[in-house]
Amino acid sequence: MASVNNEKLGRVLVLGMGKTGEGICRYLASLTVEGGRVSSVTLYGGAKSAEGDASRALEALGVRCVLGTEDVRGDYDLAVASPGIPETSAFYAAAAACSAEVIGEPELAFRESPERWLAVTGTNGKTTTTSLTTHLLEAAGMAAESVGNIGVLCIGKVGRRPEGGWLVAELSSFQLAGTRRLRPRAAALLNITPDHIEWHGSMEAYAAAKEKVFANMGAGDLAVVSVDDDRCRAAAARCAARGLRVCELSVEGEPAGADAAFVRGERLVVRLAGAETDLCACSDLRIRGRHNWQNALAASALALFAGAGADEVARGLASFDPIEHRIEPCGEAGGVRFVNDSKATNTDSVEKALTAFPPRSVVVLLGGHDKGTDLTSLAAACCAEARAAVCFGEAGERIARALEDEASREGEGPRVLRAAHLREAFGAAVAVAEPGDTVLLSPACSSFDEFANMGERGRFFKGLVAELCAAEAQKAGE
Ligand code: ADP
Repeated sequence: MASVNNEKLGRVLVLGMGKTGEGICRYLASLTVEGGRVSSVTLYGGAKSAEGDASRALEALGVRCVLGTEDVRGDYDLAVASPGIPETSAFYAAAAACSAEVIGEPELAFRESPERWLAVTGTNGKTTTTSLTTHLLEAAGMAAESVGNIGVLCIGKVGRRPEGGWLVAELSSFQLAGTRRLRPRAAALLNITPDHIEWHGSMEAYAAAKEKVFANMGAGDLAVVSVDDDRCRAAAARCAARGLRVCELSVEGEPAGADAAFVRGERLVVRLAGAETDLCACSDLRIRGRHNWQNALAASALALFAGAGADEVARGLASFDPIEHRIEPCGEAGGVRFVNDSKATNTDSVEKALTAFPPRSVVVLLGGHDKGTDLTSLAAACCAEARAAVCFGEAGERIARALEDEASREGEGPRVLRAAHLREAFGAAVAVAEPGDTVLLSPACSSFDEFANMGERGRFFKGLVAELCAAEAQKAGE
């Protein structure tokens, strides 16, 4: 087991009563045993929280639960905030006013067990890159676990780390905002495009939170940073100016430095400390699209840095399957393929997904909860790439109009159809798709107008595909 440190945490305040808040409380409660490092744990659940099984279970562990209010009172040595609570909120401010320090959950986990962390951040591609990094390390026979925004609390793994094992942390901008000392040995920043501006207050604050992943890194560490978008390129330059070792990540060009990860002649190449490794052909990957070349390069650079062998990394790259809801093939009927990319909740990810298929072979399903995002570049990408677009849900009409406007400006574009909900949109897509086409759910929106979350939306889509395939099979059997 890796060591856990002896730092006294004192009186700790926990904010938020979701999975994160509960997990933190359970961990801290285990440190309150007599003479322990934690003297008390107080949970403020937030305005909407109420007494229930969860709060009763925590109280049984000695946690004081204050529910239904955000008016924090008391005096605390440390506050740990759940990622859903913005730094700009009154709840956060109230906690900060009576605590010596406010941090997030990954920061707490790092303080408890700071050895061998790798981190992945960016607007898109985090989960894929995190899972792939873990897969590559495991392929090389090393112990590794994916944690963080991927849905596994970092703190849950802290007491049970195997000797020599790595934690590969997917870190969202919210989680990074709550870091102070976090120092991964290597970290990747994949891209920065507009998202979550409401939470951070501005695009600048959002970008700055992402860049925080490198803030405490120093000699011997490696920053893997995309140079394909302006904001990341600027972050890479700032890291280099600080004397940090930067591995420039690109699917557009071939960076010249001693550390780089790039595509040469449709092959993935990583150069570390001047030594080049030609890993595999892009076509060896089971994950599709140029954006996944980027993810594969970032994961390879992290895994090689952590000590994985080049042959194992190459084998791991070729054996990694698409993750559920991310350009996930989910069936074929009547010569039409169906692909679930429900995780594409912003426009950039849809634009990337469209590049994974031959031009004019995609019927794309777009729509859902309307975040009010600018649709200019999405409309341009759809006009250039898609055969048809079926627009549905709350945002459907706005997207349909944007596509039609763009098509009339360009003089060409996809057929644009409208549908009330995903079920009807699916029916319309099946009706217009031709053999050889792909029906792609890559909605550019969150799902809350019709579903609990993007996972439920993706599974609903896969259910519709399964029904269609079963009906086809029955017809063929008759
Ligand atoms: P995240 O965890 O950051 O949301 P995922 O790996 O879950 O990222 O991918 C989410 C969506 O973003 C995918 O469906 C895909 O369409 C798109 N995507 C994945 N990787 C990238 C990338 N490197 N650049 C841009 N878009 C990407």
